Amino acid sequence: MCLNLAKLFRRIFLFFFFLFMKQILPNSTVGVFGSGQLGRMFAIEARKMGYRVHTFSPASDTPTGQVADFETVAEYEDLNQVKRFAQNVDVVTFEFENVPSKTVEAASQFVSVHPRGEVLHIAQNRLREKNFLSQKNFPITPYRHIKTLEDLQTTVQEFGFPSILKTAGFGYDGKGQAKIKSLHDCETAFEQIKGNEAVLEAFVDFEKEVSVVGARDEQGNFAHYGVIENAHANHILDCSFAPAYLSEKIQKEAVEIAHGVLDALEVVGVMTVEFFLTKDEKLLVNELAPRPHNSGHLTIDACATNQFEQQLRAVCGLPFGSTEFYKSAAMANLLGDLWKNGEPNWAKALENQNVKLHLYGKQEARCGRKMGHLTTLAATAESAVEIIKKSRNKLKQK
Ligand code: AMP
Repeated sequence: MCLNLAKLFRRIFLFFFFLFMKQILPNSTVGVFGSGQLGRMFAIEARKMGYRVHTFSPASDTPTGQVADFETVAEYEDLNQVKRFAQNVDVVTFEFENVPSKTVEAASQFVSVHPRGEVLHIAQNRLREKNFLSQKNFPITPYRHIKTLEDLQTTVQEFGFPSILKTAGFGYDGKGQAKIKSLHDCETAFEQIKGNEAVLEAFVDFEKEVSVVGARDEQGNFAHYGVIENAHANHILDCSFAPAYLSEKIQKEAVEIAHGVLDALEVVGVMTVEFFLTKDEKLLVNELAPRPHNSGHLTIDACATNQFEQQLRAVCGLPFGSTEFYKSAAMANLLGDLWKNGEPNWAKALENQNVKLHLYGKQEARCGRKMGHLTTLAATAESAVEIIKKSRNKLKQK
């Protein structure tokens, strides 16, 4: 009886929810905070589906701005410009998670922002993110908030060597991190964080790193691309492939954890959960990215609906598209280092007809800067990785 009543209330709730839920339809304008490559690939998908795109960031002629309909160039702290931007778009999402919370709050007064500001607030700070994950019992490596050098010296002895000290905010691609190999390293590592809020993490001797790119809509529907396997070089993602070489049990567990995280945060949009897989086959969440992810770039060529289109569908209240993979796939990042001896040899790399080139329109090729990526599909992920690495090497040929 009780169960039937609960079901009835749920149906009535969903009926009114759908009745009043605002769908943002093609020809509307989607606002994007941030203007890098993630915004560019999002804008391309949005324009394909007949949306207009308005990007907001402090820079001009940006990867996103080059393909968007409108580009507002202003500081995130300029709340008058934020207000004007928010009044001129139908929904807002972001491609860069370090947008100040005040900016998101200001925009939210005029237009829906997805994922909501609270999600951004948690994901842009390692300490808040780890507190959230541990409170909700998601598996993570031991961590501690470090306030003083003495805190650090005591905690490294508890966690053992090496341990990793990370700044809580503005860290990505290994920036703001120091590996502490002995008690002697503490002072230098503590100086390096320059008084910023910091977290010490126990070192994970991982077997591999994997990620799950998930999408969730306002009604709680969830879509995902299974597990993607990632290899890093110098803390920067080098290569990703899918499907990951993992047992079915671990794949299922990773997707369930990711689903749980998106539900717990009530994410509307795309969120990526990065994991370590330990040598004894345990998954530990390393990081959350409240947006499409570098490891999901291979979905552009490999899947019926890629991660950027899925983000668009989620924030606009449209049904998710199929996440089916046409074939196994691999993606290799192209960093600025490849330009060291002049323009890369594009023709050589594209000799293989199944290799796709994606460049982000960045003018200056600095070392470590993500300039683009290559993707290929193949019968197995292993052969896709082999092909993509071979093609990337050919970029260096004269
Ligand atoms: P992050 O910016 O936290 O994702 O770190 C960048 C990379 O550093 C990760 O992808 C790992 O390869 C490595 N790393 C970060 N934290 C740890 C850890 N606790 N144990 C081992 N390796 C780590």
